[in-house]
Amino acid sequence: MSKRISILGSTGSIGRQSLDVIAACGMEAAALTANSNAARMEEQVRQFKPELAVMMDERAAADLRIRLADTPVRVASGMEGLLEAAELPSADTVLTAVVGMIGLRPTMAAIREGKRIALANKETLVCAGQLVMEEARDFGAEILPVDSEHSALFQSLQGCRDRGEVRRLILTCSGGPFFGKTRTELQGVTRKDALQHPNWSMGAKITIDSATLMNKGLEFIEAMHLYQVPPEKISIVIHRESIIHSLVEYCDNGMIAQLGAPDMRLPIQYALTWPRRTVGPADPLDLCSCGPLTFAQPDLDTFRCLDLALKAARTGGTAGAILNGANEAAVALFLEDRIGFLEIADRVALALDRVPVIQEPSMTQILEADQAAREAVLSA
Ligand code: NDP
Ligand code: MG
Repeated sequence: MSKRISILGSTGSIGRQSLDVIAACGMEAAALTANSNAARMEEQVRQFKPELAVMMDERAAADLRIRLADTPVRVASGMEGLLEAAELPSADTVLTAVVGMIGLRPTMAAIREGKRIALANKETLVCAGQLVMEEARDFGAEILPVDSEHSALFQSLQGCRDRGEVRRLILTCSGGPFFGKTRTELQGVTRKDALQHPNWSMGAKITIDSATLMNKGLEFIEAMHLYQVPPEKISIVIHRESIIHSLVEYCDNGMIAQLGAPDMRLPIQYALTWPRRTVGPADPLDLCSCGPLTFAQPDLDTFRCLDLALKAARTGGTAGAILNGANEAAVALFLEDRIGFLEIADRVALALDRVPVIQEPSMTQILEADQAAREAVLSA
């Protein structure tokens, strides 16, 4: 399949798995971007020969230029470079796999060029879902989910002729490493404990979000925007095995689910090849050895971040941007060992209390809400 993909965040967990898919499916890399990991970028550039390589960090870009001096690859840096990668004329698809709301501007830029967006960077939709989806409609850009739950919903909606027949979207949630624990037991957990996810190997920020269950809250808001459904039509079920990646319940009580081994390469590939399916590198699922499949209700008292996210989802407006900005700042503090695990939720709650919510916000108001939420977390 001949396709040219720009990957924003190619050195990360999703970025590297996307390159596996590209290699296995005979696609090409148009541009690759990273933050500071010049050594890994050099390897990727030598293997995939993109037209453009971008390092967010200026020093890393200077290092990369030296490393790639014997190649024709152009090296750019900073937000300007990221925007150039997002808009590159020779790419038909932009896969957004940077972490955090830093992905918002490049995603918007790619949409305005009418690119297909393979969206992993969920923070973008949580902050500015309404504006992003409106812009995609106006510019005729398709947004296809990479997140496994949203890909499962997308796949389970493929046969649906009338969205009015959908009763509910059901997001599955592994429960993370602390499933079944009480708040008291979570008091002393360390960065190392929280970085152990039972089923998935991911970047540090999303691994912490999976331990607090904030990840499921962000995914709840992501689903509202992607599928244009109100919060009361989405529910969450704990499914420890991560085999059913999510389900759609229809009005006749039928449910359609998507199953697969916990392997991100399948949803990544589907976002790139849709509406076709092709042979790819994802692991097969052996039904007879994946064990019994279990389901349970999430514990919103212990996992307060999920409760806060569900409240923000119902509030709407800039509540998503406040929630996300506060969470990004609080997770960074936790990863630097400056606050405890349970304090992540405390700081997010404080920001949601302090920063006023604006309905129907402009992009400027969203960016201001994000900034105010980060300041509230840092000044607590
Ligand atoms: P990683 O931390 O593994 O990778 C992040 C990537 O973004 C790296 O290439 C990194 O470069 C780059 N990056 C980090 N900070 C910046 C910055 N300030 N400016 C520009 N580039 C930056 O993250 P993941 O791959 O785990 O996650 C990426 C996104 O996908 C997140 O939004 C996450 O929520 C989402 N996602 C991830 C899943 C997973 O399985 N990992 C599943 C579903 C969604 P460098 O290497 O140089 O630091
Ligand atoms: Mg997910």
